[in-house]
Amino acid sequence: MTLAVLSIGSNVGDRLANLRTVTDALGSRLRARSPVYVTAPWGVTDQADFYNAVLLAEDGSWDEWKWLEFAQRCERAAQRTRERHWGPRTLDVDIINCAKDGEPVVQRDPRLTLPHPHAHERAFVLVPWLDVDPHAALHGTPIAELLTVLSATEREGVQRRPDQTEWLR
Ligand code: ATP
Ligand code: CA
Ligand code: CA
Repeated sequence: MTLAVLSIGSNVGDRLANLRTVTDALGSRLRARSPVYVTAPWGVTDQADFYNAVLLAEDGSWDEWKWLEFAQRCERAAQRTRERHWGPRTLDVDIINCAKDGEPVVQRDPRLTLPHPHAHERAFVLVPWLDVDPHAALHGTPIAELLTVLSATEREGVQRRPDQTEWLR
């Protein structure tokens, strides 16, 4: 049994509909979904704001590679193109963490690095993750603590969308 923490984001097209394709594809694997946040682009800042959320999902037989396949399948279905690193995209699905029988998988493979190497420095990951799992930790440090270390600018770049009804429907 694996429990995956997925960070999903979109800043091209119908952003909410793009995020929703992932919850639809997860079906009965979906355990929890955070609210949707409107977030300032990270790394490459001259592009539209993102919508971001974090999902918790469970599967009885998938390992971490199956979660990566799932993520890439979702991106392909959303016609994601890769024009520049950290650039605009219809859908990005990252595996932030994957717990196998309760223990986090640690992996350095560039095709799949776990936990996600940038998670600890991204408010758009930590803030929604905290919503769905207040006790979560990364490499043993509570994510609530990791958030306090981020700059005010980084944290203020992540704002909960005022209306969540469409997302939660
Ligand atoms: P970042 O990973 O910094 O958020 P990105 O999401 O824009 O950047 P992509 O172009 O979507 O990067 O992915 C590049 C590669 O990262 C993918 O081909 C994938 O194999 C690899 N990768 C490594 N670790 C992970 C992970 N934990 N989740 C998703 N992809 C990963
Ligand atoms: Ca990403
Ligand atoms: Ca990605």
